[in-house]
Amino acid sequence: MARFAFTTREIGDFHVGGDPVDLEHRRRGVFDAPWTWLRQVHGARVVTVTEPGEHAGAEADAAVTAVPGAVLAIHTADCVPVMLHDRRAEVLGAAHVGWRGLLGGVLEATVDAMARLGATDIRATAGPHIRARCYEFGAAELDEVAARYGDDVRAQTAWGTPALDLLAGIRAALGGRSVDDFGGCTACEPGRYWSHRARGDAGRHAAAGELGAFLGWEDVA
Ligand SMILES: [Zn+2]
Repeated sequence: MARFAFTTREIGDFHVGGDPVDLEHRRRGVFDAPWTWLRQVHGARVVTVTEPGEHAGAEADAAVTAVPGAVLAIHTADCVPVMLHDRRAEVLGAAHVGWRGLLGGVLEATVDAMARLGATDIRATAGPHIRARCYEFGAAELDEVAARYGDDVRAQTAWGTPALDLLAGIRAALGGRSVDDFGGCTACEPGRYWSHRARGDAGRHAAAGELGAFLGWEDVA
């Protein structure tokens, strides 16, 4: 089994660079174990976590693990936090997916890294992000994304300009695997979410997950 959490503003700001003690306290309030968080750069590098907290602060945009109790975390404002899980092999993944990372192949790289840990049947959950109706997007970049992931990524904003449907791109990149939508738009729900793009907010939400809780060693002495 795996547990996921997608935080809202009321849980607090997970932006890295403020008071580290406060941040650690906030993290432990969500999952009380060392977090593998990443210095996200809109790339496609994936780290494989072999003990809780390994690779914390690494420059990467995704993490995978088969270790129970290792927390994998992604920080976002408008990009999509995607949590992936294979319940048979018990392999977990977490990816930070904006349009650059999507085009860079971060999801395909995450699936490959999970497969190396034995995953064969991956399901994904996409967290809160900027929705197509709020995500005005340049025509040239939209053509680029559509060329790779199909015309389903083409959408319109509420005000009638070209828009990118990131979730459609994620579904295409995951090639028919099940993708649950957690819901929520960071741009038009200012009471619940921060948006870098819509309001220039510096705050970040956390998406975090862990495989079935580690229950401790049995004392046989
Ligand atoms: Zn919106």
